[in-house]
Amino acid sequence: MKPKSFDYVRVDTLPALFAALGAHDNAKIVAGGQSLVPMMNFRVAQPEVLVDINGVEALRHVVREGAVLRIGALARYRDVIDSPLVRDSVPLLVAALGHVGYPAIRNRGTLGGSVVHNDPSAETGVALCCLGAELVVASAEGERVVPIAEFFVTTYLTDIAPHEVLAELRIPVPAPRTGYAFREVAKRVGDFAIVNVAALVAVDTRGATTAVSLALGGVAETPVAVDVGAALLGRPLDAARAAEAARLVDAAIDPQDDNVAGGEYKRHLAGVLVKQALLAAHEDALAKGA
Ligand SMILES: Cc1cc2nc3c(=O)[nH]c(=O)nc-3n(C[C@H](O)[C@H](O)[C@H](O)COP(=O)(O)OP(=O)(O)OC[C@H]3O[C@@H](n4cnc5c(N)ncnc54)[C@H](O)[C@@H]3O)c2cc1C
Repeated sequence: MKPKSFDYVRVDTLPALFAALGAHDNAKIVAGGQSLVPMMNFRVAQPEVLVDINGVEALRHVVREGAVLRIGALARYRDVIDSPLVRDSVPLLVAALGHVGYPAIRNRGTLGGSVVHNDPSAETGVALCCLGAELVVASAEGERVVPIAEFFVTTYLTDIAPHEVLAELRIPVPAPRTGYAFREVAKRVGDFAIVNVAALVAVDTRGATTAVSLALGGVAETPVAVDVGAALLGRPLDAARAAEAARLVDAAIDPQDDNVAGGEYKRHLAGVLVKQALLAAHEDALAKGA
């Protein structure tokens, strides 16, 4: 199908963006277009005006300030994957984004577009939940900062108003001796994941776990962070501890059947991937110098 006819405006600055959004009742931002354009072609989305933000350089930065990595919402997957700064600061994000679609999708799609679109198994959201990111949402009235878990409302719905733009992702840089792992199962390479898991595990000099963060995608309407600290903290992480953590996850999730997989199969995948990801993240932490 072809999209319903629409007007097109390209803006180069944030004030021009806010003016364009304020001037139209049914306007939509377009960034990489990798989700919005297919939705327009299916007529699921029918904006009257597309506001193209690809010229807004103020949304494209990747900088580190102390222990926080700041990524502009318009940064493309490819920019982030290829950034030595991101690789050194939050390698979990690079590992996760490598699973997004195909090269053409990663060359055009943006982190901001992925977060606002909010597919429940999008790698961006799962990794950012695990990392405890905050989002900067801007409008003509100013800025607000939202923890990522609060930003995700339900599938394809986020806490952003039509006159607002997602401007920046703020990602805390994990402490030294923190290992990471990202695991996912999809029907084919490049497909959306059935289930995916992001893990961060920090260890002390004796190898005992001092902090853990775990997030899953594909098991609910939004990415889910599960606290598995009770099973892991204060001890070295072994297969038995990972299995205990997987039991906590199993009790916390309620995956539903959909047209790709059944809920019970997703539950099984979650258990397997959680154990794999925790053990791999722990091993990575030990390699960083326990
Ligand atoms: C064949 C195919 C395979 C794919 N596979 C995967 C996959 O495996 N994993 C995955 O995670 N994704 C996958 N995707 C989706 C892809 O990652 C999209 O790029 C991403 O979901 C949206 O980013 P975008 O920049 O293209 O956003 P757009 O399509 O331009 O916009 C998406 C939505 O976000 C809004 N928006 C965009 N930027 C902003 C902003 N800064 N502020 C406010 N609103 C904004 C738009 O108005 C729209 O509602 C796939 C897509 C295709 C076509």
